[in-house]
Amino acid sequence: MKFDTKCVRAGYEPGNGEPRQIPIVQSTTFRYTSSEEMGQLFDLEKSGYFYTRLQNPTNDTVAARITALEGGVAGMLTSSGQAANFYAVFNLCSAGDHFVSAASIYGGTYNLFYVTMKKMGIDCTFVDQDASEEEIAKAFRPNTKCLFGETVSNPGVKVLDIEKMARIAHSHNVPLIIDNTFPTPYNCRPFEWGCDIVTHSTTKYMDGHGMQVGGCIVDSGNFDFAAYGDKFPGLNTPDESYHGLIYTQKFGKLGYITKATAQLMRDLGSIQSPQNAFYLSIGLETLHLRMPRHCSNAQKCAEFLSAQDKVAWVTYPGLKTDKYYELGKKYCPNGTCGVLCFGLKGGRAAAEKFMDGLKLVRIYTHVADSQSCMLHPASHTHRQLSDKQLEEAGIDPSLIRFSVGIEDPDDIIEDIKQALESV
Ligand SMILES: *Cc1c(COP(=O)(O)O)cnc(C)c1O
Repeated sequence: MKFDTKCVRAGYEPGNGEPRQIPIVQSTTFRYTSSEEMGQLFDLEKSGYFYTRLQNPTNDTVAARITALEGGVAGMLTSSGQAANFYAVFNLCSAGDHFVSAASIYGGTYNLFYVTMKKMGIDCTFVDQDASEEEIAKAFRPNTKCLFGETVSNPGVKVLDIEKMARIAHSHNVPLIIDNTFPTPYNCRPFEWGCDIVTHSTTKYMDGHGMQVGGCIVDSGNFDFAAYGDKFPGLNTPDESYHGLIYTQKFGKLGYITKATAQLMRDLGSIQSPQNAFYLSIGLETLHLRMPRHCSNAQKCAEFLSAQDKVAWVTYPGLKTDKYYELGKKYCPNGTCGVLCFGLKGGRAAAEKFMDGLKLVRIYTHVADSQSCMLHPASHTHRQLSDKQLEEAGIDPSLIRFSVGIEDPDDIIEDIKQALESV
């Protein structure tokens, strides 16, 4: 199947007389007729469903579709993008471990890494993703377990040099984990460039309609965790909570996702509800139709804004003058995403006035939605960050994040035009 067909079909093949739609298995539990069989499920000796906190058939069907879109070997859904990023890293790190992350990442992920995971004894060093390989390599320590970044960062829309990051990670014998939320696999498939594990906030373009919060993790199966036994004891030494089972030995390329499901999901319980997974599947069916429109609308808005006197700057990788134009062309030849950033000459105050003047474009704490919306990170999503941290994360206090929807582009531009007049 080609990509567009996979959006509509992958992961679910109804049998004779079975429903066209993915069944929503709204059940906490599953019946077995023998006690012995149930015991084998709990020992991971047999595969099957027994309790929805660990696994549910609807979720697995939708995870299989996303896994097919990314070109991975195994995937799982989580209750949110936050849970996906936490599980992806925590599946490799324990107290006393360390990992390296690009500094230009989503504010929620930054807080998770900088504040919450630190409390768990896991240290993160943030690096400038545009620095040289030598410079970034300096952040690595003997106890470093992974390298993390975003394909196209939220909100800075910086494009990650995936091949460079993969080289750095692999030369330190650790996997590269990439949050591919903004481009989606329609615009970029990080596995094709050496990335090992991909995460998503499916809340964004994959759903696309602001219906539900969710996340997912997909493993390419390419990173050989068994080759570095000392570095990844969680995957290569007996799991006491499963009678001494060793994930890489028993499950091979599926070891990483199996551990995240059987151990982390069991113990932490951030499962996506089957109903939400179903909504996500509806969003995925049109991903290949929506993404090009998001990109072309964003391109038009970026060009329009660039030509306005009151606009100080515009960042969008689709602009030829953009710092990330070349990387964007390389990794996302069909466009990066529908998100762009700009600042007004009047700074913070002008940003607030401008946003109050909007009529069609909405103020939402959301992004990557079919409806156009804007947010001012310094006063909204990133308000916990100090000015210094904002600067490190590459966020100008005047920055307005503009998530361009799939309405008629003329209507969107008309609204921006009238709101600019009020500034
Ligand atoms: C929104 C977002 C997240 C967090 O996802 P939630 O579904 O809101 O938990 C993580 N990464 C990126 C790039 C995001 O845009």
